[in-house]
Amino acid sequence: MPELVGGALCLDFVNTVDPRHADQRFDYLAGYGALVGWARYAGAIDAAAARRMLHRAERHPAAAGEVLRRAIRLREALYRILASAMKRRAPPQDAFDYLNRELAWANATVRLTRGREGFVLQSDDRRPRLEQVLWPVIRSAVDVLVDGPLDRVRECPGLGNCGWLFVDLSKNASRRWCDMRTCGNRAKVHRYHARIRAKRGR
Ligand SMILES: [Zn+2]
Repeated sequence: MPELVGGALCLDFVNTVDPRHADQRFDYLAGYGALVGWARYAGAIDAAAARRMLHRAERHPAAAGEVLRRAIRLREALYRILASAMKRRAPPQDAFDYLNRELAWANATVRLTRGREGFVLQSDDRRPRLEQVLWPVIRSAVDVLVDGPLDRVRECPGLGNCGWLFVDLSKNASRRWCDMRTCGNRAKVHRYHARIRAKRGR
């Protein structure tokens, strides 16, 4: 499973391709089961919901495949919307329309309930649907776009065209890498080798 370095669920969702900018990229969302597995791993859904969805997917494989296609389309739309937001540009219209379409659907399948801790907006479990796995991601995307901090969303410039997104919560807004242990470290090693080469060249 990909490291959860985004700092927001929607960013971790966008980071389910590794690296983002390459012809040969590893896609963690290889099937509907993998999508549910990721959502469970990222803490977006609980074990009972995951079981329900997987069970339903077994009985409706074609519908599950369609939800996977929607998930991938949503992921790519989110990347493009966030990438333009980072540059303070208007989002690409087709991607924005798509997010709005998914949002409209998601809103039609949630209900307000009152629990011990107060009111919560949640998926309507009385009518379980395969698409429910996307709802927490959509909600997270709306949160980030509406409440931010959009000016703290960054794209990792890691070697190998990483392109992962994350919220930079460092005090002086100086976080550069998705993960210091991978991209940060790779960059360090790369700089080290470049220095050695430069020395030899002298
Ligand atoms: Zn990176």
